[in-house]
Amino acid sequence: MTVFHIITLFPKMFDGVFDNSILLNAKNKGIIDICIKDLRPFGIGTHKVVDDTPYGGGGGMVFKPEPIADALNDIKDGPGYVILTSPRGKLATQDDVLRLSKKEKITIICGHYEGVDERVSELFVDEEISIGDYVLTGGEIPAMILVDAISRLIPGVLGKDSLTTGDSHYNGVLEHPHYTRPQEFMGKEVPEVLLSGNHEQIRKWRRKMALKKTQHQRPDLFEKLDLTKEDIALLEEES
Ligand code: SAM
Repeated sequence: MTVFHIITLFPKMFDGVFDNSILLNAKNKGIIDICIKDLRPFGIGTHKVVDDTPYGGGGGMVFKPEPIADALNDIKDGPGYVILTSPRGKLATQDDVLRLSKKEKITIICGHYEGVDERVSELFVDEEISIGDYVLTGGEIPAMILVDAISRLIPGVLGKDSLTTGDSHYNGVLEHPHYTRPQEFMGKEVPEVLLSGNHEQIRKWRRKMALKKTQHQRPDLFEKLDLTKEDIALLEEES
């Protein structure tokens, strides 16, 4: 079983988030467990203070290190691999979530306000992770995203018919388009090849569409691809 601990000052934000669909099934099957840890009880003094103004001035509040240290210490048998959500962290990729899906215990610290005292990172954090080059109000949504993306790669979480190896970002390409019934919708037809039953033609069409989509939407990813002879031929085909 993979256990996630999430340290947050806003535990209510997680109400119901993991209680649906695939992650609920994974919890029920005992493949994952997700424990939300409220930071407030670890606050200091009668007011359970968890933050303070930054040294050197400037606005906003910074999470104090002691409550986070105590919350980490309170996790039975230790926090495992500790991630700090941060817009200054490494930008998460599919390779990162695949690597993290092999860990048995992951603790995610959610910052808020101006962020977290730097010593938390220096002393307790294995990795700072960002979910995108933009700034959110807190680390709660990034934590949800990480738990979701990591969990679906843990064996047994997705049904046996769901292959993650064809997903976007798995091999550096975006996924090909999908279609389902009806065959015609508002004048738009499902591509003929998908109705042909010719598996080799379908494979080639999907590869071509995946390459074209990547070239158009994510030229940065396309540039890094090691194209095969077949890929080049598919891209040179008309239409
Ligand atoms: N002052 C910080 C800075 O400029 O780097 C931003 C703090 S942000 C308002 C508050 C918290 O939200 C952060 O400590 C972090 O936990 C979370 N956060 C915000 N944007 C994020 C992102 N792109 N990825 C991961 N976590 C993020």
